[in-house]
Amino acid sequence: MKNENVRVRFAPSPTGPLHIGGVRTVLYNYLFAKKNNGKLILRIEDTDQNRFVEGAEKYIVDSLEWCGIKFDESIDLGGEFGPYKQSERKEIYEKFVKQLIDNDKAYYAFDTSDELEEMRNRLKSEKKNPQYDAVSRLNMKNSLSLSTEEVKKRLDSGETYVIRIKIPENENIEVNDMIRGKVVVNSSKLDDKVLFKSDGMPTYHLANIVDDHLMEISHVIRGEEWLPSAPLHVLLYRYFGWKSPEFAHLPLLLKPDGNGKLSKRDGDRLGFPVFPLQWVDPKTKEISSGYREAGYFPEAFINMLALLGWNPGTEQELFTMDELIEAFSIDRVGKSGSKFDPEKAKWFNHQYLIAKSDDELAKLYMQLLEDKGITSELNFVKRICKLIKERANFVEDLWNQSFFFFQLPESYDAKIVKKKWKENTPQILIELIDRFENINEFVAENIEKVIKDYLSEKNLGMGQVMNVIRLSLVGSNKGPDLFTIIELMGKEEFGKRIKLAIKCIENEK
Ligand code: GLU
Repeated sequence: MKNENVRVRFAPSPTGPLHIGGVRTVLYNYLFAKKNNGKLILRIEDTDQNRFVEGAEKYIVDSLEWCGIKFDESIDLGGEFGPYKQSERKEIYEKFVKQLIDNDKAYYAFDTSDELEEMRNRLKSEKKNPQYDAVSRLNMKNSLSLSTEEVKKRLDSGETYVIRIKIPENENIEVNDMIRGKVVVNSSKLDDKVLFKSDGMPTYHLANIVDDHLMEISHVIRGEEWLPSAPLHVLLYRYFGWKSPEFAHLPLLLKPDGNGKLSKRDGDRLGFPVFPLQWVDPKTKEISSGYREAGYFPEAFINMLALLGWNPGTEQELFTMDELIEAFSIDRVGKSGSKFDPEKAKWFNHQYLIAKSDDELAKLYMQLLEDKGITSELNFVKRICKLIKERANFVEDLWNQSFFFFQLPESYDAKIVKKKWKENTPQILIELIDRFENINEFVAENIEKVIKDYLSEKNLGMGQVMNVIRLSLVGSNKGPDLFTIIELMGKEEFGKRIKLAIKCIENEK
């Protein structure tokens, strides 16, 4: 199906950094839009002024840009359905909520918070549902229970009020969900939710429905946490006489052990980021780590997220964004939550790292070296990358695997010295320096041959030299293929390091 009229939206509230679950929601919206030749809209839902967090909107925009998710309409891009920020659409909501009141689908309520609490406590003690609804509303102070004059008087005197939706009693409301199928909820379970407040601001429910309608949203694809609100939304569409969009409620992202929703707090507690970019809380200055800063490639991050909840129905795991668009379908989004797997996340990054050309990787690594104050030759760094990239998940790991190419050993592993450094070791090493003089083409293969010939000539075992050479060059028993290390360091550096090791280790004795 290529539906020209597909219009989907991502509608975050700028109440903090965007959780990776939110990134997955916008990603699925993006894939769905692109797959269907549709449009993706970014709408900022900022009607709850109390929850406004400085910098959150910019954070959301920056994060999605880093992810490579492109919108068709937004505050920055504009579009014919703007403004794309709810606080700039206040007058629109007012008009629509009046329409509901005129049609007896909503009503004014003047109850104070104490009165509301008293009502809830009373209903609880009577073992009834503690909510504002068809049963309880007539005992409260609202335009259904008070006389018209009384209501007018209160409104004219500027009394604080809210406007509540009038939910019908005992009626089955159906939500058709593209992932979950038909979900039926009895209206008696629903609260007469507040739609509008006397400060002139709509609540989420009203603003969301009005905007989805006016912006001609065809499919609402959002997190499962909004499923309980969906019956209310269906009812609002009906009250307005509007066609409801299709709904798809995405399964939750779960903690690695599957025990509950992956929360904002989990990441740094469990040792992995839950935010795309690092976030510094503007008030507490608390820092939450981000995938970007942790060294993830955006492509790897997106690939990983795409597969948390959706499966392509094949064994394929690596997808470019274009391939995701091609393969994506809502039918293959599961109903149950997906466990977040931090190790798998690293695996994805590793796959993207090894898929990079040596040239591309070397350029990234050169930047890191530069930050450490090290200048090096691109060609040299390229050869290093080729040698060690299999051992790295992140560009940062390249350093752990190859720092010894850029600095002399600061110490020599004492355990190896004790076990492997013998009386005749210095002599063997010095003789090897001499032998290397005769190698014309100083490459791993020839180096290996010269060492092996020397050993058999002297009746020595591999174990007697390989460890001490590595120790002298690297300072430990770590690192990739030794012959290649020697090749890359070169004859001169080899000689220099061997002599330095002899000097240091012999002096220590
Ligand atoms: N503003 C809501 C949020 O913060 C949007 C929910 C929806 O997509 O309907 O997630």
